[in-house]
Amino acid sequence: MLETHKVRLLEKRNVARDTIAFVMEKPANFKYAAGQYVSMIVPSLIKEGPAECMRSMSFATAPNEDVLIIAMRLGPSLFKQTLKDLPLGEEIELRGPIGHFVCHDGDEPAVFIAGGIGIAPFRGLILENQFHNWPRKITLFYSSKKIDDASFLTELKNIKHDNFQFIPIITREKNWSGEKEHLSEAMLKKYITDIKKPIYYIVGLPEMVMEVNYMLNNCGIDQENIRTELFTGY
Ligand SMILES: Cc1cc2nc3c(=O)[nH]c(=O)nc-3n(C[C@H](O)[C@H](O)[C@H](O)COP(=O)(O)OP(=O)(O)OC[C@H]3O[C@@H](n4cnc5c(N)ncnc54)[C@H](O)[C@@H]3O)c2cc1C
Repeated sequence: MLETHKVRLLEKRNVARDTIAFVMEKPANFKYAAGQYVSMIVPSLIKEGPAECMRSMSFATAPNEDVLIIAMRLGPSLFKQTLKDLPLGEEIELRGPIGHFVCHDGDEPAVFIAGGIGIAPFRGLILENQFHNWPRKITLFYSSKKIDDASFLTELKNIKHDNFQFIPIITREKNWSGEKEHLSEAMLKKYITDIKKPIYYIVGLPEMVMEVNYMLNNCGIDQENIRTELFTGY
């Protein structure tokens, strides 16, 4: 049985085009691991049934932060429209935490691969690693069509840590001097010395996750070294 937590909405922050980070209070003694998710419920929609009132949402925060953040791409659903207009101070229900999409324990390097709003759990995982000063090396490949679509871009660029390498990929922007192509074996080898060594984590829409997983398999990466989280429902 999942625990239900009632939390107040503290802030709504625009983190990219049509993308809002909902900042919520963290209940005392609430424990979760970076990378986990919850069932997020809008109480006023409970009477409309589960398809309207709840969605699975990953924590974009690390457990050491004193608030909870959930970032989502807006859309026309009643759930998202109601949340977008929810006044600050109103209650939201969170059921969980749920899931096993957490970072491995060992010191093997981690490669995080995010598409679009799939960046959400990685923000928490990266900040957690940085907070604890863990020796694990992290490389983040984060792909968006346009610069304005990339959530937390400035924050991620500003992380200066010896163990963190950030490669934003912007595929449809004329004035972008960084990587522009989809992630490939050649790009992996450009940034990672031994591509067989890391544990790979992929988050995004199911098609994106499956394509990247297939590409990694073709590079000879063992499936047991690949962890995935599929953002279904888009
Ligand atoms: C593990 C996990 C983590 C996720 N994390 C994020 C995140 O951090 N940010 C983000 O933007 N998206 C996340 N998603 C996707 C999110 O749950 C929604 O599916 C997505 O945002 C689309 O919602 P919508 O209201 O815009 O779409 P809609 O088109 O309204 O919904 C898609 C369909 O799925 C149904 N549906 C979706 N979720 C549920 C549910 N929980 N219960 C019952 N029916 C449901 C809807 O009723 C509808 O039929 C995550 C998904 C998963 C599985």
